[in-house]
Amino acid sequence: MEPWNVEICDVTLRDGEQTPGVSFTCEEKAAIATLLDKTGIEVIEAGFPAVSAYELQCVRAVTSLDLEARICCLARAKQGDIDAAIAAEVDMVSIFIATSDLHVRLKYRRPRAEVLDEALRMVDYARDHGLSVRFAAEDASRTETAFLHEMYRRGAEHGAHLVSFADTVGCLVPLEMHRVMSQLVSESRVPLCAHCHNDLGCATANTLTAAQAGAFQLHTTVNGIGERAGNARLEEVLVGLFHKGGVDRYRLDHLPALSALVAECSGIPVGKTHPVVGEHAFAHESGIHIAALLQDPNTYEYVHPAEIGAERRFVLGKHSGRRALEHVVCSLGCRLDDRQISRVLELVKERGEHQKCTVTPEVLMDLIRRVRGEG
Ligand SMILES: [Zn+2]
Repeated sequence: MEPWNVEICDVTLRDGEQTPGVSFTCEEKAAIATLLDKTGIEVIEAGFPAVSAYELQCVRAVTSLDLEARICCLARAKQGDIDAAIAAEVDMVSIFIATSDLHVRLKYRRPRAEVLDEALRMVDYARDHGLSVRFAAEDASRTETAFLHEMYRRGAEHGAHLVSFADTVGCLVPLEMHRVMSQLVSESRVPLCAHCHNDLGCATANTLTAAQAGAFQLHTTVNGIGERAGNARLEEVLVGLFHKGGVDRYRLDHLPALSALVAECSGIPVGKTHPVVGEHAFAHESGIHIAALLQDPNTYEYVHPAEIGAERRFVLGKHSGRRALEHVVCSLGCRLDDRQISRVLELVKERGEHQKCTVTPEVLMDLIRRVRGEG
């Protein structure tokens, strides 16, 4: 199978920063961008320079790093915004207009044809100043498909290199995404981008589905941070591309560090059961699972921890069995006889059940000492 023809544009530093309460310093943006670049991300959306002088400075801090990745920024279809993008020395500007009837009526208060004409003049302006242009439809998922076709066709005629489809309110499910993306891809002269939000919990699924339907540039954020329920998660999309799309060029082993860095800078912790980078993503407690995993990890792991440079962990608790306990006891360098194992297992289950906690190696050592003391 040919690998899917895709690239990633990570928008952590722009959409991710729009998470309520999140603001990155220039140093933080530079550090995150550097790690994204090491991971092999092709495009980094560094910010929205028209927002403030400091934001412009931060985008410049990223462009001045001279990374392999192309650097992009956001702009409304306004000359001042494009000028800020030019000043930030980005490679690409993402010029967006809202396209759904609801947004056009409330935001622009004039016909969408006029809004489109003016935006196309801004595409020309950006192209005349040497910028690569992504022409983006905000709230595309609630926009008449015929209008999107027209917008993308005319954007391409004006020299836009990419056109973008945003599921801004996260209202699509994968089958709907497949239908609309297939249609748009078949009629567009330039590559399509998929920008998915997670309000129905489908952002990653929709992003992978868009890729299957022919979308080229996939938008993500690290840990899925972003407005409301956030965006498609980089770590899930990359692992999905690896397993489903045959895309094996990304350095997945940088994902744990990237996830930890963004959690620290954003102040938004990663959930324990978060795929790929959560504390429990490769942890097992069930005795049945552990006994099988010890024979062959494929029994209960689809994503292998080694793929991302992580380690499998066995956690002891109420569901633990004898095999798991023996394995952990042995890995701690201890030897116990059958009777002692049974007694430690009893204590482990008791702790798990009545104190609702898992048994760490330290606690286990205490239990082992106690059982040995019982003679
Ligand atoms: Zn967004």
